[in-house]
Amino acid sequence: MDMTMTDIDELLVSWGEPRYRAKQVYKWLNSSVAPKNMSNLPLQLREKLAQVPFGSSKVHDKFLSKRDGTVKYLFELEDGNLVEGVLMRYHHGNTVCISTQVGCKMGCAFCASTLDGCVRNLRPGEMLSFIAQIEKDHEAELTGVRFVTNIVLMGSGEPLDNYDNVVNFLKRCTAEDGLQISARNISLSTCGLVPKIYTLIDDAPNVTLSISLHAPTNEQRDAIMPINKVYPIEAVIRAAKHYAETTKRRVIFEYALIEGQNASFEDAKALSSLLRGIICHVNLIPLNPVKERSLSGVTKNSAEQFAKWLNDLHISATVRREMGTDIDGACGQLRRRVINELCDKN
Ligand code: SAH
Repeated sequence: MDMTMTDIDELLVSWGEPRYRAKQVYKWLNSSVAPKNMSNLPLQLREKLAQVPFGSSKVHDKFLSKRDGTVKYLFELEDGNLVEGVLMRYHHGNTVCISTQVGCKMGCAFCASTLDGCVRNLRPGEMLSFIAQIEKDHEAELTGVRFVTNIVLMGSGEPLDNYDNVVNFLKRCTAEDGLQISARNISLSTCGLVPKIYTLIDDAPNVTLSISLHAPTNEQRDAIMPINKVYPIEAVIRAAKHYAETTKRRVIFEYALIEGQNASFEDAKALSSLLRGIICHVNLIPLNPVKERSLSGVTKNSAEQFAKWLNDLHISATVRREMGTDIDGACGQLRRRVINELCDKN
């Protein structure tokens, strides 16, 4: 799964196969079809391919939201690690939310992904395999039409902490001989690894940047996001502004509303001053309560009120539609629950 079409072509030609084989194999790989079912290949080649380690994943479990059709997947990697992915169905297409690391080391106070630290980085082929599994789960290989149209890197892990693999993955998603998904349909969310925001402009052009801001002042952000002590809010805002101006793309700020912490009118005012002059949009979400953390979210009404305050202050903001809350929708929650259940069983 880590191999590009050129790599596969070289391998197959070295096996004495004709040049057009690479394209056929690559297409099957991107729909997670096992070699034995690669129906347009000769039997002997299928058998040979079946001996190759794929560096792939399989669906360990999946949960379908009865409310909105969201599907939460738990993928099992070849080394047994479990990571989450989510499929969200919108009118404009099918969005897949992908994890970039097993766990996370950023230590945000409200996030379940980081509770046990970072186990390891995901490789590009593993991230691609999540999309391939979802394609297969929807029988996309039968229709030949790509099922996944949008990708958001908002699962477990900090994408910019796994920079090279993530950039490689993004290149494979957008490439002509890859998934051919437009960079504009891909969002990358970061807690604010500032130097990497600058390099991303050249390394993954036109990807939509989301920044997890969650607080309007250093004092408040320090209390919930340890990374703020390394890259304080002013540096994050400078990088966001540079990103927006250079790419001419609107930057998204994620802001989880936490009861009693960052959701007052004063906070809305401070946030509007901070973001003034940046081409941006604020995505508000009432904090999803995480059992292990003693922080709670605001009500839907308070979130709407906060959005209105921001709008009145001429900052574009909406409350993000919550999806899949009945299936442990928040970052890292499903993986933890399943791992805990497995541990209880053993
Ligand atoms: N590490 C990256 C990618 C994670 S994206 C980042 O920090 O942006 C997941 C998003 O969900 C981030 O905005 C994160 O801050 C947010 N998040 C994590 N736990 C949450 C919770 N309990 N409620 C609401 N949002 C949460």
